[in-house]
Amino acid sequence: MSVELPIYLDNHATTRVDPRVVDAMLPFYSEDYGNAASKSHAFGWRAEAAVEIARETLANAIGAGSPREVVFTSGATESNNLALKGVAEMRRNRGDHLVTVATEHASVLDPCRYLESRGFRLTVLPVDRDGLVDPEAVRQALSDATILVSVMAANNEIGVLQPLEAIGAICREREVLFHTDAVQALGKVPVDVDGWQVDLLSVSAHKLYGPKGVGALYVRRRRPRLRLVPLLHGGGHERGLRSGTLPVPSIVGFGRALALCEAERAAEARRLQGLRERLRERLQGELAGVRLLGHATRRLPGNLNVAFEGVDADALIVALHDVAVSSGSACTSATPEPSHVVAALGLERGAERGSVRFGLGRFNTQEEIDYAASRVIEEVRKLRGAAPS
Ligand SMILES: *Cc1c(COP(=O)(O)O)cnc(C)c1O
Repeated sequence: MSVELPIYLDNHATTRVDPRVVDAMLPFYSEDYGNAASKSHAFGWRAEAAVEIARETLANAIGAGSPREVVFTSGATESNNLALKGVAEMRRNRGDHLVTVATEHASVLDPCRYLESRGFRLTVLPVDRDGLVDPEAVRQALSDATILVSVMAANNEIGVLQPLEAIGAICREREVLFHTDAVQALGKVPVDVDGWQVDLLSVSAHKLYGPKGVGALYVRRRRPRLRLVPLLHGGGHERGLRSGTLPVPSIVGFGRALALCEAERAAEARRLQGLRERLRERLQGELAGVRLLGHATRRLPGNLNVAFEGVDADALIVALHDVAVSSGSACTSATPEPSHVVAALGLERGAERGSVRFGLGRFNTQEEIDYAASRVIEEVRKLRGAAPS
């Protein structure tokens, strides 16, 4: 059985756009190319109708009370910025304290640090060795000055699923707003804004087989009704929260991509988890000193993150030229230090030379996983053999 090389196993960085999504997008470039804000002709009406279908798909997928709670953005980086800065400015006279977690994505941590530089106080909670945050630590971090807690749903490096329900309940009880970066969770595991009691939730299309450059922010409109301060001012699109002409083809693709994920979610989760476990069992069965990072079961079905004792992760990734994997988040992989996520696990042994993230996705086959496992085993043995004693 031959496989096509290189093999893509970096589905947390981005995903291939599903051909069915491309098909759905194409007419909105060449036929229904109207501006969704044009109210005076059919071109505009058709564009707007398509956007509203996508908005409804998104609202349904996350359990929102109304499609009006969905704001389209340029991606999750913008959604996270809008949520954090928008709340900070909105609640500035109520309090000045923000709470987040050490393993968050840079697009959460950096806006938080920016706000800190502008006079807000920031608590960055640690995680345990499995990568999980303790809800009781969130409770203890809250004060009367706390205006927002931001905890991601699923981690983009180690795949762990944070206990959002418990954290949400604590935030609601204390009337503190709760934001989650659910980029890696949406389409992969159930997402429910009411079950989690989140007030704001960020998502992105290109992590779920949709196009790059489009995302959304869920903003709760009832109990409590949030009136965020926008980042962009202009034509007043998206109920004033995000001015700028809507990228209709991208939004249509987002909706279609999400609908496909939701329709196939349970079966696909089982398939990916099976492949992930097959990969893990081969690596741990045929090599010594293979350490799994992140909780063993509370994790995304397609995520595997492992450290190979005595092996420099970056050297291994370079050697694996026909298997596309990464050592952490793509956004920061130019820097040589171990990722802030792995560092936050506080592991003293086995992971000090970095770890390799395998992100399995829709287009991966069992043959590809078997090939990748063999190549990793081969290169780890070579690197260990070559290591100075
Ligand atoms: C990819 C990613 C983002 C950024 O999303 P963009 O749409 O690329 O801006 C934010 N958070 C997490 C967890 C991610 O994986």
